[in-house]
Amino acid sequence: MSYVDEIYERVVAQNPNEAEFHQAVKEVLDSLKLVIDANEEKYRKAGLLERFVEPERVVSFRVPWVDDNGNVQVNKGYRVQFNSAIGPYKGGLRLHPSVNQSILKFLGFEQTLKNSLTGLPIGGGKGGSNFDPKGKSDREVMAFCQSFMTELYRHIGADTDCPAGDIGVGAREVGFLYGQYKRITGRYEGVLTGKGLTFGGSLARTEATGYGLIYILDEMLKHHNQQIEGKTVLVSGSGNVAIYAVQKLQQLGAKVVAMCDSNGYIYDKEGIKLDVIRDIKEVRRARISEYVKAVPTAVYTEGKGIWSIPCDIALPCATQNELNLEDAKMLKANGCIAVAEGANMPSTREATDYFVENNILFMPGKAANAGGVATSALEQSQNSMRMSWTFEEVDAKLKDIMVNIYAKAADAAQRYGVPGNYVAGANIAGFEKVAEAMIGQGIV
Ligand code: GLU
Repeated sequence: MSYVDEIYERVVAQNPNEAEFHQAVKEVLDSLKLVIDANEEKYRKAGLLERFVEPERVVSFRVPWVDDNGNVQVNKGYRVQFNSAIGPYKGGLRLHPSVNQSILKFLGFEQTLKNSLTGLPIGGGKGGSNFDPKGKSDREVMAFCQSFMTELYRHIGADTDCPAGDIGVGAREVGFLYGQYKRITGRYEGVLTGKGLTFGGSLARTEATGYGLIYILDEMLKHHNQQIEGKTVLVSGSGNVAIYAVQKLQQLGAKVVAMCDSNGYIYDKEGIKLDVIRDIKEVRRARISEYVKAVPTAVYTEGKGIWSIPCDIALPCATQNELNLEDAKMLKANGCIAVAEGANMPSTREATDYFVENNILFMPGKAANAGGVATSALEQSQNSMRMSWTFEEVDAKLKDIMVNIYAKAADAAQRYGVPGNYVAGANIAGFEKVAEAMIGQGIV
């Protein structure tokens, strides 16, 4: 049996009931097969893959808090410190009812490769809780965040592990978490990123994941003699990534005709009015169905279905496994030429394979959405230097990083004989750096 197959079997046997983690490991190992076969002896000797698929540490804890009715609530809290070969653990905290160990391990594993691709010195981590911020008051969210940090603080630090936002964690939550960390430890340091601008946050961090997605999409299109201007685009989701992706697309002359949330999607053939979406999502924290009240010519449809709308480009920016094989086939049939993932693993394995095999330009999440964590690393740098860069400086660095990620993924794909396969290219390029660092540091 090949080394890759052996390791996959081991992961399934040793991590039962962790379907998302198995899925992420399988996709990565399959596309690393060429590299691993070529280095099998060296990697086996170092137990490299056995270590690569095992998180360095998983912390799981109780998060008790009191709701507005005076009732005690208890949630599960986690931090997965996956791999610190190339730098301190770095990755977001997700607050969503679906959060469990499998999902956080898949995200931590992916984060390790994503962070490596950025070229910056950051290892991979992820954390969160099954707490649902939806429908909670500000006081309840603060009570939860303070309780969560009262345990988490002992496992993190500016030079050990630096969490950030993810689904359900934005500026409000990062602020509450930071306040509690500072209160407990007495230290004012860059221990979380995505902070408010008045207390160490970086300009352009809020925009970074969405903007970065469009920068790498633009780069990919240019290399295939295409451009963003004039294209019709679908963007799933309506959170931070989706909103700033739409903003940059509109600046570059694309027309975004649909967005969604977990309840349903809106179709606006005149082009989405982003100020209406921002008011609904960022100010009122309401459902996207409200859009049609402000724009009566738009159509709201309950449930899934956004990928059935004809488009040139599709950007899944909501959550894992939101785009399946049937969706992929529909996109192709309707003339879609490019897909780039703003979320982490939004396309199922079957959909990903379909895109790659059917010549749809496809940029996987670990490359396409790396602009967020890359700009978090720039926030860490500014905190360490006790300096702040301008928006233009950070944005220019972000653009450079995304162009470089494209070049690395394209180069690795070329070197291993699969030109244009950015799934393989991103996995290989991310893996090569981590593997070398792990071997260099001995059996740890
Ligand atoms: N949650 C984001 C991601 O999936 C950002 C993480 C960070 O900024 O550390 O990459």
